[in-house]
Amino acid sequence: MKNQIVCKFGGSSVSNAEQINKVKDIVSENQERRYVVVSAPGKESSRDEKITDHLMNIATGGKHFRSQQIEIDAETSYRAVMGKFRKLVADLSIEGDDIIEQLEGDLQKTIPVDKRIDFLASRGERYNAEIVCRYFNKKGMPSELVLPKDMGFVVSDDFSNARVIPVSYRNIREKLSSVEGVSVIPGFYGMTSRGDVAVFSRGGSDLTGGEVAFAVEASLYENWTDTDGIYQVDPRLIPEAKVIPRLTYKEIRLLSSKGFNVFHYDAMVNCRKRNIPIRIRNTNDLSSEGTMIVSERVPEEVVVGIARQDNIAYLYIERVGSGETIGFVHALLSIMKDYGIETYHYPTDRDDVAILLNQDDLVGSEGDIKETIEREFKPDILEFNYNITIISPVGIGMKDHPGVIAAAATALKEQNINIDIINQGPAQISFHFGFRNYYADSALRAMYERLLK
Ligand code: ASP
Repeated sequence: MKNQIVCKFGGSSVSNAEQINKVKDIVSENQERRYVVVSAPGKESSRDEKITDHLMNIATGGKHFRSQQIEIDAETSYRAVMGKFRKLVADLSIEGDDIIEQLEGDLQKTIPVDKRIDFLASRGERYNAEIVCRYFNKKGMPSELVLPKDMGFVVSDDFSNARVIPVSYRNIREKLSSVEGVSVIPGFYGMTSRGDVAVFSRGGSDLTGGEVAFAVEASLYENWTDTDGIYQVDPRLIPEAKVIPRLTYKEIRLLSSKGFNVFHYDAMVNCRKRNIPIRIRNTNDLSSEGTMIVSERVPEEVVVGIARQDNIAYLYIERVGSGETIGFVHALLSIMKDYGIETYHYPTDRDDVAILLNQDDLVGSEGDIKETIEREFKPDILEFNYNITIISPVGIGMKDHPGVIAAAATALKEQNINIDIINQGPAQISFHFGFRNYYADSALRAMYERLLK
């Protein structure tokens, strides 16, 4: 394994000229930083919207923001996108008339409706990478723009949720090994075998970075963002929470599947296969060490982080005799599969089953699902409970350490908080408590103080 680093810069790290200049300084500081993956420009302030969202708003004629009760029409988004790219070119003082012209052409292209969102959504990464590359060259850092189509980055045609086709890895390795200087690669999208653009799920530039790191067998994958690393608990909820210095792939998978959203859920999957460490760092504070994600660590602390997931629905089904029916749980979960609904947990007992899922996923199909369960299972009790919060402590040290669940439960008892759901992860490195959401803030605080402080 050569010492080559893949660096991915998130939206806020490339949101304006000043940020892009920081990126240039970071990359030029270490010659091993040979592959740079960039996001589309992100928000410059909390009142701002991401360029990717504006592009999706253009693609949907304004529906994208409307559905989030944000009053920005497609015209305004168009002006925001063009304005942002014109400003980047001007502020970085690079040659960019051709970029602006091409972008404008892309935004006005007629594209079949099913492919339109992906094509437009990818344009933020596409042209931002070109701008960053030109700036690097202007500043004396030889760089080459490598687009997904140039490196044979082939993905499935699951639009908006594309999957990487394995032939990509060899293609990427071959192409990138021929690049002399720094390769600048747009994140978030690949090309289908028919030559269409397909994007990953949101936040998917992390995934591009992970896949490139895997393909070139990088020694390190650096993920540059606007926070100091991965916090023990969401710092917006517990301001004194600290950055976790080291955690394992398994721990971050668990935490990010349950609401930690610093890093894309799938981005570590291939890095893990090749033991490529991932380091989360802050573009705006180089003094901070960040978080290292590795395959193994000495579990000095028992719990490393606590995730919290709100808006969970709890479907409770009781039918006397269901325990004797082989395949009952399977049949029940199949209904969720038929409706395309992801399920998180399904505690079972002799005659009853509960299914936990994101309540927003039920919108529009709740009535039909109720009817189907009634018809097919004739339950004695069927309840849909809403507004549940699941709080999940995670840590590899938990497996051999007695009393962690007892400590958490005691802390809750002291606050007079009732636990509605208890479930331990089979690997014994996580457990999940469910509460009515009015308990969530105080439950999180009580568990943080007892398990992490
Ligand atoms: N720009 C895309 C998004 O906002 C991808 C990314 O930034 O990772 O989801």
